[in-house]
Amino acid sequence: MSDQRPRIVLATRNAGKLIELDRILLASAVRVRLLTLGQFPDAPDVAETGATFAENAMLKARAVAEFTGLAAVADDSGICVDALNGMPGVLSARWAGRHGNDAANLRLLLDQVADVPDGRRGAHFACAAALALPAGEVAVSEGKVTGRIIREPRGTGGFGYDPIFLPEGETRTTAEMSAHEKDAISHRGRAFRGLVCDIARLLQISGS
Ligand code: IMP
Repeated sequence: MSDQRPRIVLATRNAGKLIELDRILLASAVRVRLLTLGQFPDAPDVAETGATFAENAMLKARAVAEFTGLAAVADDSGICVDALNGMPGVLSARWAGRHGNDAANLRLLLDQVADVPDGRRGAHFACAAALALPAGEVAVSEGKVTGRIIREPRGTGGFGYDPIFLPEGETRTTAEMSAHEKDAISHRGRAFRGLVCDIARLLQISGS
């Protein structure tokens, strides 16, 4: 029997994001078939030129919906540090200059806030998730998790800035939590969960 579920392309080559969105959609009872860019090797690499997470997520979702002719979901995320006026923000992945050098990004950020006292080390992770349809409709959902930057990295889980981020009310960094624990409170989990009803509405499928 052929698979009748509506198809959505997740605009990422990151397998972790696919697994996370799949889990969230499954829990919400919205039945879709998720594809990734791995199945569209010629899809364009979209430059993240937006000034906000939402702009970048929409840019990527629109480009992939246009290219594939299918509904597309994209996300953009980063860390915003109060003492740095909200930076690195959309530049989080490129903060130390090279895209995706997590260790260098984390070290640079720690050095930049070395003299900031404990009471002013607030920060949040932010994520925007966008859904775009080939016909042009777009929906965006945003999620964030607030906390603070500690002084030395702790934990081996997660990625990026997780070892120096302590969520509010927690004694462990997000790098010391299990993947499930982090998903439950994370900016990405919140943004994806917020997008589920838009997915159901725009694709005209029922969910809970
Ligand atoms: P992107 O949304 O995949 O472009 O990620 C942007 C950058 O933000 C990543 O390279 C990380 O440096 C940082 N970032 C985003 N989400 C997280 C997170 O959950 N933990 C740690 N770092 C993150």
